[in-house]
Amino acid sequence: STPGGSRVREEKIVVTVRLRPLNKREQLAKDNVSWECVDDHSIVYKPLPHERVVQPSSFTFDKVFGPEAVTESVYEDGVKTVALSALMGINATIFAYGQTSSGKTYTMRGITEKAVNDIYQHIMHNPDREFRIKISGLEIYNENVRDLLNSENGRNLKLRDDPETIESTVRDTSDCVRSFVSSLNFVDLAGSERASQTNADGARLREGCHINLSLMTLTTVIRKLSVGKRSGHIPYRDSKLTRILQHSLGGNARTAIICTLSPASSHVEQSRNTLFFATRAK
Ligand code: ADP
Ligand code: MG
Repeated sequence: STPGGSRVREEKIVVTVRLRPLNKREQLAKDNVSWECVDDHSIVYKPLPHERVVQPSSFTFDKVFGPEAVTESVYEDGVKTVALSALMGINATIFAYGQTSSGKTYTMRGITEKAVNDIYQHIMHNPDREFRIKISGLEIYNENVRDLLNSENGRNLKLRDDPETIESTVRDTSDCVRSFVSSLNFVDLAGSERASQTNADGARLREGCHINLSLMTLTTVIRKLSVGKRSGHIPYRDSKLTRILQHSLGGNARTAIICTLSPASSHVEQSRNTLFFATRAK
């Protein structure tokens, strides 16, 4: 396996980038492809002829996926080991970060389906273990948390501090029972361009600020966690998103971040912001 493969297997925070193909609209607008994945780990800016290139123009991550990569490979080579660590009592979180239309939902839908399928396969093949699985779907909007699976779903949920999603009990021959409780979270974030939205007013401003708060706090938390023990206080409680993910990000936990990019020259600035976020997460 590649060095990147082993890095993806072991790292606490795995950072990957997925560059999607140009879409129809971008093709019709004669947009240029501004980014290229040159190997398994690097993505570089492709300047137009005679263009002066803003540095840095090359970015390196645990794994990068180009426009030809299918979601299956993004799952297999980028996030599978992180997702399946939830079966061993390790909290796992997979999230997609990127501007609107960069491919977050497209990627997370495929990844979630493949991970859930793998988890069921694992359970079927381990009849000596008892598993209890809880699935939750939450939406965070303006720092209000809505339970998507509850019929009274207009309700604003109060957050509790106990983590649950997957619970598994191993029975060994001496009849002693070991129990693992872990959670596996899939997060499809709001478009990252909202984090830098400044010229808004009224409801838009409130929405911008709240989305900003959750995204900004997540950025700070991830950056501090990636630095390790020296980072001091980690501000989980500053936003709803980081409160919900607190037990899944810190401590006995692994995180995979998929940063999604449009290749279009008209989106270079947002793509660059996403790559800076991805770099800070490492
Ligand atoms: P986001 O959730 O980031 O706003 P979407 O996931 O909705 O973006 O993707 C925007 C559009 O691009 C959708 O039509 C989606 O099908 C398409 N798309 C995204 N990523 C890919 C990809 N890797 N390959 C092909 N089409 C993609
Ligand atoms: Mg989406």
